[in-house]
Formats: sequence, C-alpha cells, structure tokens
Amino acid sequence: MSLATREEIAQAIRNVPDFPKPGIQFKDITPVLLDSRLLDSTIEHLIAAARGRRVDKVVGIDARGFIFGAAAALKLGAGFVPVRKKGKLPWATHEESYDLEYGSATVAIHVDAVKPGERVLLVDDLLATGGTAAAAVKLLQRLGAEIIGISFLIELGFLNGRSRLGTHPVEAVIRY
Ligand code: AMP
Repeated sequence: MSLATREEIAQAIRNVPDFPKPGIQFKDITPVLLDSRLLDSTIEHLIAAARGRRVDKVVGIDARGFIFGAAAALKLGAGFVPVRKKGKLPWATHEESYDLEYGSATVAIHVDAVKPGERVLLVDDLLATGGTAAAAVKLLQRLGAEIIGISFLIELGFLNGRSRLGTHPVEAVIRY
C-alpha cells in the first residue's frame, strides 16, 4: 500500500463554512478517517519527525487528538495519554485554563500520566490560535515531561498559533 501524499490527504479534508457558528471555516477530518489508506498515511506523516527517536508517551488532546494520538502511539511503540476537558478524568488531575474568543476553557491530565523526564510527543488534529496546545504544554511541563515535538494534522498558519508553543518543534501535515 503506497503512502498517500499530503495533497491527497488535503483533498479529503472537508471545509464546512459557518460551523459551529457563523464565520468559522470548520476543517472536517472525518473523510480522512473513512479511508484506511488515507488514515494510515496521515499517521505516517504525523509521526515522521519522531520516527526512529525514543518516545515514551504520545499525548492526545480531547477529542480528535485521541484518534490520531492513539494510532501514533501504536506506530511509535509508545503509551498513550489523554488530555481531557475538565471534569472528565476520574483520578487526581492537574488543570490549566486558557482564554477562548468568548469565555475560557480548562483542560486536565492525570497526575501520574507522565513521569518526570519521559519523552513525549503531543498530538492534536488542528492548530488554530494555539491556546489549547499551549495549555497542554503547561500541563506536561508541570509533570516534568520532555516534549520532543508537537504534531498537528492541520495548521491554520494565518493565526500564528505556533508562536504560543515556545521553542518546541512544531510539525503540521497540512497548512492553510
Ligand atoms: P486553538 O486552541 O485555537 O488552537 O484551537 C484548537 C482546537 O480547536 C483543536 O482541538 C481543534 O480541534 C479545534 N478547532 C479550532 N478551529 C477549528 C477549525 N477551523 N476546524 C476544526 N477544528 C477547529
């Protein structure tokens, strides 16, 4: 099975105008999930920079980051850690809040999910303003993780979210 190119993957992503509210161009990744070759190739591109390096944990962000993150963990021989929206994780957690366009949001991680010094790859489907990923980075720093990279399927480059992610290497399979 040959690897699908980034262009092929980009063609499968569906742009849905005005969802979930007017003015948002929502990038629907579910057509990529429907096709096993596109899905497998997407994960291959997502982990390209981490291949051959030691990765102890892949950390995925609620909710589409779970899909790509868990698959990436299997390919890299790493464990998987969910960063969830507040109130969903059952055990002791650390929490980080961040600002949204209207109001704020809080994400959480189990206190024992990553051990100090463990090497982690952070994964999410899409980088927009970077607020969500920046909060996840703070959670990982509180646990003493060594962040070896942050990988997204899609980056909305015009929002410059990567400027909020410090010096960590940021990769994106597709950029708009
Ligand atoms: P941000 O914190 O602004 O970087 O937003 C990133 C999070 O919001 C990701 O978990 C995305 O799943 C979601 N998101 C933001 N903008 C979009 C968009 N245009 N299409 C799809 N998902 C989005």
